[in-house]
Amino acid sequence: MTITPTRLPMILDQVEVVRVERLSPSFVRVELGGPCLADFGVDGPLYDQRIKLILPHGDGPLPSFTGAEESWYAAWLERPVEERGHLRTYTVRDVRGAGSDTRLVVDFAVHGADGPAGPGASWAARARVGDRLVLLAPRRGHEFGGIEFEPGTASRLLLVGDETAVPAVCAILGQLPWRARGAVFLEVPTAADVQSVAHPEGVQVVWLPREGAPLGSLVHAAVLEHLGVGGLRDEDADEVGEVDPDLWETPTYSSSGEEVDAAVTLVGHDLDDLYAWIAGESGLVTALRRALVTDLGLDRRQVAFMGYWRRGVAMRS
Ligand SMILES: Cc1cc2nc3c(=O)[nH]c(=O)nc-3n(C[C@H](O)[C@H](O)[C@H](O)COP(=O)(O)OP(=O)(O)OC[C@H]3O[C@@H](n4cnc5c(N)ncnc54)[C@H](O)[C@@H]3O)c2cc1C
Repeated sequence: MTITPTRLPMILDQVEVVRVERLSPSFVRVELGGPCLADFGVDGPLYDQRIKLILPHGDGPLPSFTGAEESWYAAWLERPVEERGHLRTYTVRDVRGAGSDTRLVVDFAVHGADGPAGPGASWAARARVGDRLVLLAPRRGHEFGGIEFEPGTASRLLLVGDETAVPAVCAILGQLPWRARGAVFLEVPTAADVQSVAHPEGVQVVWLPREGAPLGSLVHAAVLEHLGVGGLRDEDADEVGEVDPDLWETPTYSSSGEEVDAAVTLVGHDLDDLYAWIAGESGLVTALRRALVTDLGLDRRQVAFMGYWRRGVAMRS
């Protein structure tokens, strides 16, 4: 009797590094390949499609998911960290090739200058062709989720992020219709991290190299300036009070359980044709959320606020 392994509705398999490129001081581009990628795909544009990667713990082994069942996550969590490695979230920056030669491009922001680098950044900084890791990604023909960019009928876009959101924003920019209009603000550690990226003519792209300025301060001021309210509680940008490290609010989901449908009155700012997508360090995102929703009265249904990481807090596996 032949036992057919359960086919999971997503890709959960080992892939191999086929190319590594140091893009700039803070970014490493890694191209991942493997037979399982022949099944990679979603129904429609990828936009900010997120994926999960399982990276080995130091020089430890990689877990195998051959024959994994639906309950794989609980079983994986039970293993000691030295065997299971670390699960981290990243974005599909690009897809190259086709069929069994399909390759996923992932851009890693390599941090560590202000504190210890986590397993994701350390792995990327040392990545070599032939290294292996586990990929959790959408399998063509199955619902996977993980695309948050949903501008609906908005005629004006506002995309904002720090270096961890640069891959998602650049991927979105490359997939927008040519007639799209709006503005993009991206804060990166240094001027050398500015990338050249294709974008529709009607979308203004502004790179903001921090060069030592407090994280989020440049992007916060630039967004308020762009919305015509420069200086609005700007002095508070560093003092955002309590920050939810899991901050995730989209037009259909709120990590705090807030009522998503609650209509908010606009307070005299012409923002009703705007869709805002904001991602990065949770404090940066919280400060902008307060400015846009609390102070300017932007309707919660027009924004996606996503904490991609929290200063001083390792991502939960
Ligand atoms: C949907 C989504 C998509 C994402 N896409 C990408 C992507 O394409 N590329 C990418 O680089 N990141 C991306 N991120 C962010 C990434 O998952 C986090 O930065 C993650 O914490 C990195 O894991 P790590 O193992 O390096 O650090 P962790 O083990 O999680 O954290 C260790 C320490 O490093 C700090 N730290 C984590 N990230 C940074 C950083 N960027 N700068 C400074 N300190 C940091 C933490 O605060 C902590 O103190 C994404 C996150 C989400 C939720």
